[in-house]
Amino acid sequence: MLHPNPVPTPLLRHSLLEEKGIELAIKRLDLVNSGVTGNKFFKLKYNLEKAKNEGKNRILTFGGAFSNHIYATAEAAKAENLASIGIIRGERTEPLNSTLAHAEELGMELYYIDRNEYRNKTDPEFLATLQDKFGDFYLIPEGGTNDLAIKGTQEILDSEDYQFTHICSSIGTGGTFAGLYASLSEHQKLLGFSSLKGEFIHKEIADLIEKNNLESQGSYEIFTNYHFGGYAKHKQELIDFTWWFYENFEVILDPIYTAKMAFGIWDLVNKGYFPKDSKILMIHSGGLQGNIGFTERTGIELPIPSK
Ligand SMILES: *Cc1c(COP(=O)(O)O)cnc(C)c1O
Repeated sequence: MLHPNPVPTPLLRHSLLEEKGIELAIKRLDLVNSGVTGNKFFKLKYNLEKAKNEGKNRILTFGGAFSNHIYATAEAAKAENLASIGIIRGERTEPLNSTLAHAEELGMELYYIDRNEYRNKTDPEFLATLQDKFGDFYLIPEGGTNDLAIKGTQEILDSEDYQFTHICSSIGTGGTFAGLYASLSEHQKLLGFSSLKGEFIHKEIADLIEKNNLESQGSYEIFTNYHFGGYAKHKQELIDFTWWFYENFEVILDPIYTAKMAFGIWDLVNKGYFPKDSKILMIHSGGLQGNIGFTERTGIELPIPSK
């Protein structure tokens, strides 16, 4: 089984926070494991355990060419001595970008399908054709969210985190948010910052909560106004914020998820959303492998972690 490192949760120091009388800390899940980082560690751990228990020797999953999920699945499968197959949306382009090159180095077999075919990613008939092609596999859906992922993300918060009044998380598919929600204590509110454009996420989250019979002692609120144009989009304002955050706090964020959340939190602090004496915990869900690919794709420099 994958083992987590204890992660630091430093307090961020800034005059604005002092002025507002609130505390802001960041839980560094980007440091939870040297290979499988961020929220993906929690989403994958029980899935890999189940794959092994079922005697499967390969994992198959889906993702885009810069996907943190693909990268993390390749790492996790390698750590657990399982083979892995990544079904990648789009065409193979050489040289491979840093995400896919790394996944391939870890032994993941990459198989490309076009955008139309990719839409069949949950269709049983299509999955059966993949079974014929690759042999029996353990399927992890695109983005990695399923019941076992949510079981894993319920372990993100630990007993020391119950001192916080607000927990903040970025949202992609919502699997991380759902697990966090289920693990709140009574006085806690979970704030979610959607990386994707649109209001659909409200229903998506409500469905995840219902389908997984999740109960919570706490409450939640989702913000859909910090997506900066949408999933793979970016704006200079967010890039500037990422650098500002790094220079002030020495923490690297990624522009797809964590920077949008941190920007949103900062904006809410500025606007007086948080009552005095609030203790806010932001979850750093990782994703820093993507910064290299982001720079490859856009030419825009971002801080990157030194290995
Ligand atoms: C995958 C990912 C998310 C989104 O997680 P969901 O469980 O799909 O909502 C958030 N942050 C980072 C850094 C990620 O890689």
